[in-house]
Amino acid sequence: MAIRFDGRVAIVTGAGNGLGRAHALGLASRGAKVVVNDFGGARDGTGGSLSPAETVVEEIRKAGGTAMADGADVSNFEQVTAMVERATKEWGSVDLLCANAGILRDKSFAKLEVADWAKVLDVHLTGTYYCCKAVWAGMRERNYGRIVLTTSSSGLFGNFGQANYGAAKAGMVGLMNVLAEEGRKNNIKVNTISPTAATRMTEELLPPQALALMKPEAITPAVEFLLSEDAPTRTIMGAGAGSFAVIRVLETEGV
Ligand code: ADP
Repeated sequence: MAIRFDGRVAIVTGAGNGLGRAHALGLASRGAKVVVNDFGGARDGTGGSLSPAETVVEEIRKAGGTAMADGADVSNFEQVTAMVERATKEWGSVDLLCANAGILRDKSFAKLEVADWAKVLDVHLTGTYYCCKAVWAGMRERNYGRIVLTTSSSGLFGNFGQANYGAAKAGMVGLMNVLAEEGRKNNIKVNTISPTAATRMTEELLPPQALALMKPEAITPAVEFLLSEDAPTRTIMGAGAGSFAVIRVLETEGV
């Protein structure tokens, strides 16, 4: 049966571009009310004076969906809390969280500065913690929550020049492991997805022929599955163009 999110409220962070945008559009097309978060300002081109988040909201509305834009910086806890409060006031709850906002500051370890380390850890790891923290109490109260954290093979296996990013992504897997266990009794399921897709993050790393096959939209079905009623929990899922694979499922209940 097709996955539906009618009556559910979702926050997708970093949804002005790439993966987050694709996920926001996908969730909205399946009935979710979506907070399209991105801290990016107005850009040139298609969006005109609209911010990337506002542009995506326009796209969703044109397709008949329901969405609001939010410009919170995920590395600012007050802004994240305000975003969750706004969504809850407007739509009654936050049921689904896709923590996807991200930046890169790639440098070989010899050149990596303290600021490069701190910034990347702040956005990916601490920002994800802030988002999870802000939605957690409500999810516990309502006995329902689905959380997907966008991680990376870099956090599992390491990529050259990504000591900061890899450490942050590995940290997110650590966070997911604990939240998945602590969320069990309240029907909160927490998973990570490790995508391979053509986004601004990968466009310089991969050849054009590969990028052409790797649309962000190819990852969205895997994210939708992990946010669905029947989602597993504590899964590290790898997803590429047109296919996805579970890297690890670790169920500890009853063991
Ligand atoms: P990918 O699609 O691979 O995640 P992108 O760079 O296309 O990579 O998208 C990441 C998005 O995350 C960007 O739109 C960017 O503006 C957003 N982003 C980065 N840092 C933050 C932050 N601190 N708060 C909110 N959004 C952020």
